[in-house]
Amino acid sequence: MDDCIFCKIINRDIPSDIVYENENVLAFKDITPQMPIHILVIPKKHIESIVDLKDGDEILVGKIFTAINKIAKDTGIDKTGFRVISNCGEDAGQTVKHLHFHILAGEKMGADII
Ligand code: 5GP
Ligand code: ZN
Repeated sequence: MDDCIFCKIINRDIPSDIVYENENVLAFKDITPQMPIHILVIPKKHIESIVDLKDGDEILVGKIFTAINKIAKDTGIDKTGFRVISNCGEDAGQTVKHLHFHILAGEKMGADII
């Protein structure tokens, strides 16, 4: 997608602080961190959001969560805890229309931090 900021990050058209990458998945630091650790995990395939997943994408979703597992172990937050969030659509405040999972960690979170 030409006008998608995350596709531009995937293609290295705009810079990002990449923490993990494989054939299908990219993870990079959020430009406006909400927590001491704030990483975005995205599929390299452009999918707008959870509601746009199609039959067959379950393999890709599994790969995203396998990447989250690896990132958690690499950063040590598997020991301290973390939260995974995917905002979907207007009411959730999704601002970038490329499926992404926020990993939030690094301090205690209240139930109100989403
Ligand atoms: P959303 O609100 O759609 O769930 O989350 C989008 C996230 O993308 C926000 O937390 C925002 O800070 C992050 N973001 C937007 N543009 C960029 C960018 O150019 N680079 C990086 N690293 N993060 C971005
Ligand atoms: Zn995209």
